Amino acid sequence: MNTQTENHFINRSGWLRAAVLGANDGILSTTSLAIGIAAASDSRNPIVLAALAGVVAGALSMAAGEYVSVSSQSDVETSDLEREKKELLEMPEAELTELTGIYIARGLTSKLAREVAEQLTAHNALEAHARDELGINEITQAKPFQAAMASASAFIAGGVLPLLVAIFAPIKYMVVLQYCFAIVFLAVSGTLAASAGGSGIVKSILRICLWGTVAMCASALVGYLFGVQAS
Ligand SMILES: [Zn+2]
Repeated sequence: MNTQTENHFINRSGWLRAAVLGANDGILSTTSLAIGIAAASDSRNPIVLAALAGVVAGALSMAAGEYVSVSSQSDVETSDLEREKKELLEMPEAELTELTGIYIARGLTSKLAREVAEQLTAHNALEAHARDELGINEITQAKPFQAAMASASAFIAGGVLPLLVAIFAPIKYMVVLQYCFAIVFLAVSGTLAASAGGSGIVKSILRICLWGTVAMCASALVGYLFGVQAS
């Protein structure tokens, strides 16, 4: 009962952290693009276009990357489970010994380990092996499509913010405003990440703002150099 609740908590905070990371990505890469173009251009259209393209391309690449990585993980899990099923049919005694060994390694006495292994095998052998030997349980079982949609949506949620700034901020202060808003957005998502991950809020905000500033300065510099050269 207790482990069940803990698992759910860990699972949920994992999702939240992934969502926050995706949103940070969206904020940072879209703002960097917008700043890079804004530093090189005096008109709004190219900035908005770059931000929009950045959001779309970023979301698609997040989705594709996540889909590939999660589905290959899912393939591995499926074939592991198939092999385990076969082994349980063909050599149940060896599998029981294997399971006993796992519980001994986790600190049980060999007598108790044997007893636990026997009871869990009687209850649901495949489930016991999947969980304690392979580390697969229902909760962590990979879902590629959901994972892809989740990280694309998280990226879009973050990327839309600098896109809105690109559309509405006065063009004269575009670079400064993009930067300031991005820091605010990152600080908000840093707070979310900290409360999801249980780490220190100040530390997590400082970290994301520092690296965000480095990234945005670099792209502003590229845009500035490009703008100087083009004019
Ligand atoms: Zn096994």
